[in-house]
This record gives sequence, structure tokens and C-alpha cells, in this order.
Amino acid sequence: MNLHEYQAKELLQQFDLPLLKGKAYINNLDTIEKDLSDLSGPPWVVKSQIHAGGRGAGHFKKSFNNKGGVQIIQEKTQVPVIAKLMLGNILITKQTGADGKKVNRLFIEEGCKIEREFYLSFLIDRNNSQLMLMISSAGGMNIEDVAKDNPEKIHTIYFPDLTEINLPKNLEKQLELNSSQFEELVLISKKLVRAFKSLDASTIEINPLVLNNQGNFVLLDAKLILDDNALFRHPELEKLKDITEENPLEHEASQNNMNYVKLDGSIGCMVNGAGLAMATMDIIKQFGEEPANFLDLGGTANKERAIKGFKIIQTDPNVQSVLINIFGGIIHCDMIANGIVEAIKEINFRLPIVVRFQGTNAAQGRDIINQSSLNITSIDDLTEAAKKVVKLAQ
Ligand code: GDP
Ligand code: MN
Repeated sequence: MNLHEYQAKELLQQFDLPLLKGKAYINNLDTIEKDLSDLSGPPWVVKSQIHAGGRGAGHFKKSFNNKGGVQIIQEKTQVPVIAKLMLGNILITKQTGADGKKVNRLFIEEGCKIEREFYLSFLIDRNNSQLMLMISSAGGMNIEDVAKDNPEKIHTIYFPDLTEINLPKNLEKQLELNSSQFEELVLISKKLVRAFKSLDASTIEINPLVLNNQGNFVLLDAKLILDDNALFRHPELEKLKDITEENPLEHEASQNNMNYVKLDGSIGCMVNGAGLAMATMDIIKQFGEEPANFLDLGGTANKERAIKGFKIIQTDPNVQSVLINIFGGIIHCDMIANGIVEAIKEINFRLPIVVRFQGTNAAQGRDIINQSSLNITSIDDLTEAAKKVVKLAQ
């Protein structure tokens, strides 16, 4: 789950990290003039809150001053003026795609004088199942570009033991810090790891982490991604979800414990299990078509899930045919077959469907499908099923 910068900063504040004072606004700037008396400046920084990076270098659809989604303002009276122009506007960045994203929320912060900018992130390295710190003195800019052009400028440090967070001493030289700044960086890292663990984060990215003109570190930007699989432990964090930032279909699927990701192809997929869903998408590609979606019905697929799945697939005008690939383990294929047949009738689903059953009661499931006299074919072999559904799409 993604959070907004201001939400991430509010959470990180509880871990005693060096952050600047700020105030968030959701669709409404009524109190902005009054609030500004609490924020020291100049400068002040008006920051668009959207779930995408590259805001600073982005541009607004309704352009007003040729500046981006993060603006540093010296004149106090200009702060509400700029804020009003940003709120409700569409911000287009490298990460939003050409359509951009509507700015419904703003964060207005005290500014600071930047001496140096660093990149810092904590994330899980899945290759060796360890927490990893990535840090670079080339901060502020797109880290993917640094990785490509100056990979030697990115330092990675692994933490096999989370109870002992220390940074190698040679980092002090590599990052050109003095010893007290290095100590400060170690302390910040310890606090961030504490936050990472206690929030069940999957990523914390601070870009930039800056040294201000007093030589102290400040977290100027914060991106925090929470591990969805651990959200049940944090009902208070789940409330922070901004559903206006989510794809409505993906959101609806997740509300029903299904995983849906919209893709650009023509073949709808309905599968139980994520690995099987990946394999199903692969085989569709192998026979020359593209999947229209990833859809994992979950381990307890039933008629209600099938109806939801068909409804979601139906909203995508690109879909020409549907492949349902079910492995019957705990769930029985005949039950699923009945569910599929009833679901098709109930919502009057019209597109051609190929079903492939394997596992528990697969033969009974196949019989139910074949006797249904609907526009649906049962094929046991995945290769044949994939070939068929590709042909139907063409
Ligand atoms: P992003 O572009 O979405 O990553 O948004 P950031 O929060 O990183 O802001 C973009 C850039 O604005 C930063 O890299 C900084 O260089 C600059 N910036 C943000 N806050 C301040 C500030 O308080 N003072 C100054 N001088 N620059 C800032
Ligand atoms: Mn940033």
C-alpha cells in the first residue's frame, strides 16, 4: 500500500526523525492563511501530494508558472496563490503517464537551505531475503539514472541482523561526511529501521536526504510503502489508504480478496493462484496474444468470486475471449464449474470462454461445462486451451 508523502512524514515523525514542520490539505485550503503563521520561512515549499514521484520536475496541465509540483516560495503572500493553482490541477510527471494525476491534496512545509542532497532507501532484497540500505551522494535526482550512468555512486549495505544496525566506517569517506555527520547518519538509519519494522514497511525511500546549511541532516522527501500482507496488523494504517489514487477495478477486486491488475491485451484471464495466473499469461503470450489482465481469484474461488471476476473483465472493452484456468485442490472443479455456469447466466456474459480444469473433480467439472450449452469450451490440456482462446480472440 502506498502512502502520500505527508502521511509518511507524519508516521516517521513518531520515530524522532529530523523532519520539517508542515501542514496537509485535502481538497480545501480554507485555513491556509491562518496556518501559515505557524510555519517559519521564507522559504515555504508547496508540495503536490500524488502517488507518483518526479513531482518537482513535472508540469501542470493547466500551466501557470512553468514550474513543477514542488515549488519553493519566498514571498509569503504567494503561498496561498500557488496552492490554489495547484489544487485540483492535473500534474504530469515521468511516473504518472501522459494523463497525469489530479492533485487532491497538498502539503505545505517550512523550507530549508540545502547544502548537499543524498539518496537513501531501505528495502527488502528478495535475492537474499535481507533488509538492504541503498545510499548515494547523488541525491535529489532520479535514482534509476544514477544507477545507469554512475553505478559506483550507489552503495548497498545488507543487514542480516536487524537488532544491530551499523554502517561501515568507509561510508564516511565515500559520502564525504565528517565524523559527526556520519554518526548522525547512523542514528537516522537506526531510527528508519525501527520504523521499517514496526510499520511493516516494504520500502522507505528518502530522496533527497539533505544536509542543511547548519550541516545537519533533514528528510526532505519521504516515500513509504507498506507490506499489504501485514496490513491486518495495522488497521490504523489501512485507514490512510487514498482510494482516489487506486485503479477502481483493482480496488474493488482487493475488497473481495482477489488480485486484479489491468493489462493491455485482448484475452481475459481468470485463475486461482498467483503462480498459475503468471503461467497462464505466459502461455497466452507464447501463442502470440497478450493477456488483458492478471486475475487471481484466490484459494477459495466460488460463484460470487466468478461473478465479480466476470464483471471486472467485462468492463474492459479490449477483451475478446476469456481463459479460465483452475487447479482443483481444496476447491473442487465441479463446484467451480457450477459457479461459472451460474455466473455467466446471471450477468449474461457474452464473450467466448475456454475453461481448463485440472485436479480434484476435473472430469465432473468438464461435464458440467460441456452440458451447459453456453458459449464455453472445456479443454484439459493447457497448451490446447491457450491455442483455442488465442484463436477465439482473433
Ligand atoms: P519529487 O520530485 O516528487 O521527488 O519531490 P521532492 O520532495 O523530492 O522535491 C523535489 C525537489 O525539490 C527536491 O529534490 C529538492 O531539491 C527540492 N526541495 C524540496 N523541498 C525543499 C526545501 O525545503 N528547500 C529547497 N531549497 N529545496 C527543496
Ligand atoms: Mn523526491
